[in-house]
Amino acid sequence: MYLVVVMPQEFRSYINDVIPKVAEAYGNLLSIKLIVDDVKLSNRFYDPFRNQYRAWQIIDSLGPCKEPTVYVLNVDAYVPSLNFVFGLADPYLKCAAVFTPRLNHPNHITFTTRLAKEIVHESGHLMGLHHCLDFRCVMSFSNSIIDVDRKSWRFCNRCYNLLQRSLISKL
Ligand code: ZN
Ligand code: ZN
Repeated sequence: MYLVVVMPQEFRSYINDVIPKVAEAYGNLLSIKLIVDDVKLSNRFYDPFRNQYRAWQIIDSLGPCKEPTVYVLNVDAYVPSLNFVFGLADPYLKCAAVFTPRLNHPNHITFTTRLAKEIVHESGHLMGLHHCLDFRCVMSFSNSIIDVDRKSWRFCNRCYNLLQRSLISKL
């Protein structure tokens, strides 16, 4: 089984710092297929009053995906109940997005580590995982960038075992 990660051209130089961490989180459970592509988002998804994109509409337009896919998008986005989201996933459409502006940091490693965590987190949802109460686990919910920095890019043992079971059942 594959996890597809779609990165925009402008993030090419980050690939070598992001993808190995995502691959390491999954171990030998699945392989990562990287695609470098600029996704053109329709203006219809843009909310001029909030200066943000509507995250669910983006996911609905990108899905359904053949294989679980995470799109990395350099736009700020929100869902109606929250001020912003770092990412969003719809397991039924097998489609997720990570929104990078709020992950930005002048330090290359800090930024790429945050990006890797959010890709693993949203793809974890695509694989059927829910939020985890272990704050070190990549599946813990992040309310703020402090939470993102605190967690690891890896799954805790419990989530990894759930993942293993869920992926085996899909074979
Ligand atoms: Zn989540
Ligand atoms: Zn966990």
